Amino acid sequence: MLGQGVGGVSTPARERQVVRHELVRRDLEVLRVERLTSTMTRVTLGGDELTGFSALGPEDHVKVFLRTPTGETVRRDYTPRTFREDAGELDIDFVVHGATGPAGAWAASAASGHSLSIGGPRGSRLAPGGYERFLLLADESAVPALSRWIEAVGISAHVEAFVQSDSPDISSYPFPSTTTVSVVPTGADAGVAAIRDASPDAYTYVWAAGEATALIPVRRYLRDDLGIDRSDMKVDGYWRRGIAGADHHAPLDPDDPEA
Ligand SMILES: Cc1cc2nc3c(=O)[nH]c(=O)nc-3n(C[C@H](O)[C@H](O)[C@H](O)COP(=O)(O)OP(=O)(O)OC[C@H]3O[C@@H](n4cnc5c(N)ncnc54)[C@H](O)[C@@H]3O)c2cc1C
Repeated sequence: MLGQGVGGVSTPARERQVVRHELVRRDLEVLRVERLTSTMTRVTLGGDELTGFSALGPEDHVKVFLRTPTGETVRRDYTPRTFREDAGELDIDFVVHGATGPAGAWAASAASGHSLSIGGPRGSRLAPGGYERFLLLADESAVPALSRWIEAVGISAHVEAFVQSDSPDISSYPFPSTTTVSVVPTGADAGVAAIRDASPDAYTYVWAAGEATALIPVRRYLRDDLGIDRSDMKVDGYWRRGIAGADHHAPLDPDDPEA
């Protein structure tokens, strides 16, 4: 029996159940564009091909397909922030990061009537039940997933949520109201300090996502200093400084791959 959260579904035990989906590519249309903060833009997509879309897990991701100015097609990972099935609308929140990058650039100039193709999600990893506390740490790229985590577990468990951002108006992002989200600076030191202050215990599940190299010390602190078992945490590099199209399945730290 599954418990239904606002933004997802959680499993009763500590394991994280995976629900597989048929892999479908969808050609969608931009319905609306909303600037949420100085660095984050919400693109609302619609179209007949959204029929059957499903994203049940807090960190689900879709592949966004984009054409570069040189005509090459690239794929980037994005979180389906909110799917309104009845309205046939899907929100994706993009960081407009100013660095060269086809996805950030596409979002910066997105307008209603533009088109975007997405693939997936291939599967949904559901939030685990059986934890009293959730400790969430995210940079801006992972703010949509952090929001989904809050929606999935924020009513049944105690959630401590930290967003790492240097944007002065990040608090304008429409975070779910059930949890107070603390804003801390970017970088590894601030990430480790946030975890240390929150003192995760044996009843805590820890999820951290954002820039990969900044998360290396965070994962090391969780694993080596706090002795948290890998089944009680997930640390995910959502992008890597200086690398285009970084693969989040690659080891976070190539010199210390997770055994
Ligand atoms: C599971 C998952 C879910 C994700 N969900 C989201 C989401 O909902 N919203 C979102 O905005 N991102 C999300 N990301 C991150 C996104 O996929 C990357 O930021 C991606 O690299 C952006 O592509 P790009 O074409 O703009 O830049 P790329 O071509 O990949 O990179 C070009 C340059 O920009 C830099 N760069 C890339 N991303 C950022 C950034 N966020 N800030 C600063 N510099 C950057 C790179 O280091 C590189 O130097 C997610 C990633 C994963 C793995």
